[in-house]
Amino acid sequence: MKTAIIGAGAAGCFCATILKRFLPEAQIDIYESGSKPLQKVAITGGGRCNLTNNFTDVKSLNQIYPRGFNLMKRLFKCFDHQATMRWFEEEGVKLIIQDDHCVFPKSQDAMEIVSTLLRGMQGVRIYTRQRVKEILPCDNHSYKISTDSRCEIYDNVVVTSGGSPKASGLDFLSELALEIVPPVPSLFSFSISEKEDITPITELMGIVVKDTEIRLTGTKFKSEGPLLITHWGMSGPAILRLSSYAARWLAERNYEATLSINWLGGMIEENVRKMLQQQMDDNPKKQIGSIHPITQRLWHYLLQKNRIEPERRCADVSGKLLNKLVASLCNDIYHICGQNRYKDEFVTCGGVSLSNIDPNTLECKKHRGIYFAGEVLDVDAVTGGFNLQAAWTMGYIVAHSIIQGQVTLLNPK
Ligand SMILES: Cc1cc2nc3c(=O)[nH]c(=O)nc-3n(C[C@H](O)[C@H](O)[C@H](O)COP(=O)(O)OP(=O)(O)OC[C@H]3O[C@@H](n4cnc5c(N)ncnc54)[C@H](O)[C@@H]3O)c2cc1C
Repeated sequence: MKTAIIGAGAAGCFCATILKRFLPEAQIDIYESGSKPLQKVAITGGGRCNLTNNFTDVKSLNQIYPRGFNLMKRLFKCFDHQATMRWFEEEGVKLIIQDDHCVFPKSQDAMEIVSTLLRGMQGVRIYTRQRVKEILPCDNHSYKISTDSRCEIYDNVVVTSGGSPKASGLDFLSELALEIVPPVPSLFSFSISEKEDITPITELMGIVVKDTEIRLTGTKFKSEGPLLITHWGMSGPAILRLSSYAARWLAERNYEATLSINWLGGMIEENVRKMLQQQMDDNPKKQIGSIHPITQRLWHYLLQKNRIEPERRCADVSGKLLNKLVASLCNDIYHICGQNRYKDEFVTCGGVSLSNIDPNTLECKKHRGIYFAGEVLDVDAVTGGFNLQAAWTMGYIVAHSIIQGQVTLLNPK
């Protein structure tokens, strides 16, 4: 049996490792357009590799996998985060689970994950600097793989070429006539533009507000959690999550939208008004700038935005001004005018449509013997180790589908 794997990333290399373990005699060739295998894994998690998550905080998979949650739910029954952690631990990788539920190698070194996978791939041929240009269906469900300098026929082809924000990254699949969901970026931070007559919020860069609730006005897209003010706008977990939920909607609007922030998390206006009124009633002589219900610099910024001097005494703040402050705390409005990469840690929303594949085996319905795994499919997640988990799970399922097929071939009923 000859198998070609296209792309030596997380999904491709994990698939090769499992295949080699169960079918040590099989010929497995990986084609990689880059100069080395697993180059992206080496830089994941800022070089520490957030390889999975313990999922204890996950209430519903559709909050984690905005695209592909039904598929992931099904596949996790066969190989989930616990199986992944067990697999790496059995390979000698010690793991740690952070307070935020993200799982890293204890060594804090992504290269440990890279070397573990490479060790498992001994006997697999890896052709680097070989971009696959075409997959051509031949007789008897075999396939011709072509690069600029190689051309070979295989029984099975596993496509693990990862995400690509440009549709042209999938041109090599054109002969297969698949349904493609146009790719757009996900996991980005927002550029913010403001009126020129006030000091911009970006002056507060570096401030993290731990508990915010944010939404895109006029839509159902919302998220919550820490928000980081940056020198170009807004970032942090709440923003990245929102960018993931609304990835396609934002792309269609050329990243122009209105963001509403509740700086006090889930607190409703009525309770915020009561809280502020109480604080002002208790301290009538104090300056409004000194009773800050949120971090002081941000409070002063909101006062400035509402043209209220921080020196004004609480007793002199009118009901109308109080209403304005409550609105600023619960529904602070910003204009999003573009997107920015967050530490270059983006993923692709879109790719090969899930309608093309059998959800149990990840085999192509039209072309038996071709399988898909990882970010090349229309599956992507928010940050937290969930994207790599999808790659490990899908790589494993494809390997087992091929092994299963092989066992059936060797032992026909
Ligand atoms: C900077 C950064 C940090 C990240 N950190 C994390 C993290 O800590 N945790 C997490 O869960 N996720 C993280 N992600 C996301 C995660 O890395 C990806 O979702 C995951 O690597 C996808 O795995 P994959 O195997 O599908 O694709 P990839 O790992 O991207 O591998 C695809 C491979 O295919 C090759 N290729 C593409 N086209 C061809 C072709 N035509 N012929 C031959 N080869 C081809 C590419 O060169 C590449 O090596 C991060 C992403 C980035 C960009």
